[in-house]
Amino acid sequence: MSMYNKKSVEDIDVAGKKVIVRVDFNVPFDAEGNITDDKRIVGALPTIKYLVDHNAKTILVSHLGRPKGQFNPKYSMAPASARLAQLLGKPVIQAADVIGPDAEAKAAALKNGEVLMLENARFHEEEEKNDPEFARKLASFAEIYVNDAFGTAHRAHATTAGIADYLPAVSGMLIEKEISIMGKALENPDRPFVTILGGAKVADKLKVIENLLNKADTLIIGGGMAFTFLAAKGFKVGKSLVDETKIDYCKDMMAKAEEKGVKILLPDDCVCTAGFPDPINAPIETVTVDVDAIPDDMMGLDIGPKTDKVFSEAVKNAKTVVWNGPMGVTENPALARGTIAVAEALSHTDATTIVGGGDSAAAIEKLGFAHTITHISTGGGASLEFLEGKVLPGIACLEDKD
Ligand code: AMP
Repeated sequence: MSMYNKKSVEDIDVAGKKVIVRVDFNVPFDAEGNITDDKRIVGALPTIKYLVDHNAKTILVSHLGRPKGQFNPKYSMAPASARLAQLLGKPVIQAADVIGPDAEAKAAALKNGEVLMLENARFHEEEEKNDPEFARKLASFAEIYVNDAFGTAHRAHATTAGIADYLPAVSGMLIEKEISIMGKALENPDRPFVTILGGAKVADKLKVIENLLNKADTLIIGGGMAFTFLAAKGFKVGKSLVDETKIDYCKDMMAKAEEKGVKILLPDDCVCTAGFPDPINAPIETVTVDVDAIPDDMMGLDIGPKTDKVFSEAVKNAKTVVWNGPMGVTENPALARGTIAVAEALSHTDATTIVGGGDSAAAIEKLGFAHTITHISTGGGASLEFLEGKVLPGIACLEDKD
């Protein structure tokens, strides 16, 4: 049985039932307390609408920020539930507490099709401790548990995992999409399967590299992490970011790849500067050189145009592409070209394309390419752990499909 083949809310009967749904409404606010990005609320709408349309009594629970186990109005769910009400076009009842008397009374009084939002689960330190009593109390409000918070699925907290000990547990539609698309890519991808990794540090992605080496046909490595690989190959990389402690690891990985017949593509050229831009978006002079000619006093901060072509060609020939991490310092317009080129390549292919990680997803969205991507993962840490091949507690706790 596949660890990704989990029962979803569509596989069970929810009519007239009280359903507690873990959502990820951890939205960003501006200084005036306005929500600046409601993507996560929008992401949960399919599950919430499904439950409303199927006459369930829906109880939503989420975390927001880091209130450190204390009631704190600054981290109230009220603005998020107000936005949800606008998006749903129907009222959302807001509880004043999480497992307290107000929440309990409002949950008990819910009618079919109504939606209740509990207060921030992290107002109780028991949430992050995955306290069984806290989980049991929450579970007592409902008859079914639905997890739709992929962004916290890598955490074993009371609302993301513990509660499943007390209720039938299924996935929401967002988690279902995450696990079906990413699960297929990892278990049974259409080939060639090309993965593109970038971002600052090799150390952050060691386990991802190891896992993908067993799955992918081609592993493309760009961004800051490419320079440790280039150094391991014997190139002089000047002042570029190199993790000396991981050079042997990179050598091992390249040897392993060769053994397995997996192609590793590294940059052929790069965009260099005399120093790291300060501030990061300051205008900066760049020179583009081949990787065997990086000047001693310069650092590589983006892939060069020859590399764009090689990476894009690999993407063009792929049937499945997974991308995580930028190719350069995208915060600076002079160092964003490589990431844009990769984003464009992904937007022009018919392959299944999966993008995870904040910077790569942001690049895709900024360019207006989001609609061309099969799946943009909603969870940074969770999608990395997924790519590492880890069992995520928030998914493992759900019932397997019959
Ligand atoms: P991560 O959080 O690992 O996905 O890395 C994202 C960060 O990597 C961004 O802030 C980029 O500015 C940074 N980055 C990308 N390429 C390089 C590079 N060549 N050298 C240093 N930092 C980089």
